[in-house]
Amino acid sequence: MSSISDKVASLVRPEIRALKAYHVPDATGLIKLDAMENPYSWPEAVKREWLDTLQRVALNRYPDPDARRLRERLRAALAVPPGMELMLGNGSDELIQIILMAVSKPGAVVLAPTPTFVMYEMIATFTGAKFTGVPLAPDFLLDLPAMLKAIETHRPAVIFLAWPNNPTGDLFAREDVLRVIERAPGLVVLDEAYHAFAGESFMDRLGSYDNLLVMRTLSKQGLAGLRLGVLAGPRPWLEEFNKVRLPYNIGVLTQASAEFALAHLALLDEQARQIRAERDRLFKSLNALKGIQAWPSRTNFILFRVGQGDANRVFEGLRQHGVLIKNLNSAGAMLKNCLRVTVGTPEENAVFLKALEACL
Ligand code: PMP
Repeated sequence: MSSISDKVASLVRPEIRALKAYHVPDATGLIKLDAMENPYSWPEAVKREWLDTLQRVALNRYPDPDARRLRERLRAALAVPPGMELMLGNGSDELIQIILMAVSKPGAVVLAPTPTFVMYEMIATFTGAKFTGVPLAPDFLLDLPAMLKAIETHRPAVIFLAWPNNPTGDLFAREDVLRVIERAPGLVVLDEAYHAFAGESFMDRLGSYDNLLVMRTLSKQGLAGLRLGVLAGPRPWLEEFNKVRLPYNIGVLTQASAEFALAHLALLDEQARQIRAERDRLFKSLNALKGIQAWPSRTNFILFRVGQGDANRVFEGLRQHGVLIKNLNSAGAMLKNCLRVTVGTPEENAVFLKALEACL
């Protein structure tokens, strides 16, 4: 009789066996500045009002499969142009999965500038597509000639552009993005996960290009625990993707909580404003430290480089001081010696800076 590992090896697709599961480190007892979360919670009175709302939710019933009321609220809150459709996902991760499940024919290519958000490549692999990364130019700028050449060569079914990009934090030039959209033979998904901190969007260009989709998430605005992503675009695309979406993918608690949060948009916007101001202070402080190079950010995190060979030591040292950030050193290439810190509260950032100074 064959062992279980033989059975696994013979049954599971080799490209899945070659993957490593997305790793989330344990942050127990640490100041958590690794995952682009918003550090602020809601005032007590708002929390009480939210809990009151949740009491009226029928947990014994399936959710509205189309989340109609929530989608209407999102349409207004996100200024989705008239005539465009909306689809919701269990985080934008699920939306990426839905898009790729729908388009990944054998041989289909998914293209993105790299380094970028790792789930584009992972999900391309899950769904049997081929991922092609186009390295960014120095200083993490979009290499437009290389992108256009790769588009010609690979004729990608989908191009993902994280705008601003993770983990680099910058916003590719709008003109360059337009050139990519115009030249792409397939879909271009503008992933605006960090929109609240960037202040620019392609949302108002939806409909001007029939291959453009815009994706947003509530995760970076204080609602990472809810898992709600939003895809906006022309109806013919979303109608097809909707066939792939599982019927009740957005639970009743998420629908009710997101509707509640959207009724308190001013609170979310004020938190984003505080994070932007704190980001700019943190950027200045980081760049003032000897041996650190930080890149300007349009997000709620900052990418920085430490001295040659120091990244692992600094990362571990910070953890010893009770601060968890993200170590990108092992990604190699352009990210060698790079670390990424999420903007926390002023107090958390002060602890981080002091610990970092002690580790340099
Ligand atoms: N897109 C980008 C560019 C991201 O950085 C992230 C999260 N790190 C996501 C999407 C995923 O967001 P969500 O929590 O909505 O799945």
